[in-house]
Amino acid sequence: MSEIHEGGCVCGAVRFETRAAPQRVSACSCGWCTKRTGAPLGVSVYFLKEDVRFTQGALTPFRLTSDAGRWIESEFCGTCGTTVSWTLEFLPDFRGIAAGTFDTPSFWYRPQRYVFTRSKPDWLHLDGDVPCFAAMPGS
Ligand SMILES: [Zn+2]
Ligand SMILES: [Zn+2]
Repeated sequence: MSEIHEGGCVCGAVRFETRAAPQRVSACSCGWCTKRTGAPLGVSVYFLKEDVRFTQGALTPFRLTSDAGRWIESEFCGTCGTTVSWTLEFLPDFRGIAAGTFDTPSFWYRPQRYVFTRSKPDWLHLDGDVPCFAAMPGS
């Protein structure tokens, strides 16, 4: 696969590249996604761990419990605080990348589902062909 995308944190200390198509792309309005983004939803782009390479800088880990009651190992830039990446307890072979950290303008991914819509604002709607779930299905 030669599909390469690059990104990084706000200050530029942390840089990464992804080397394949994502395994999963989710929009999410859970408590963590709204806190980490400061926005009503986050978009998570998941790759196999081996398809993500950090090319510069170091990430600081922080472990928390999700709205689904599972652990999230969040990783952020210790200089600027941008949450760049994470691992989820129920997707241990995947690495999540915060969609907005890909270099702009490159909103090349497309959500396959929208989860935790129970906590989304009523004025926010994705395209009608994106399946919506009130919480996390199947976990
Ligand atoms: Zn940074
Ligand atoms: Zn979320």
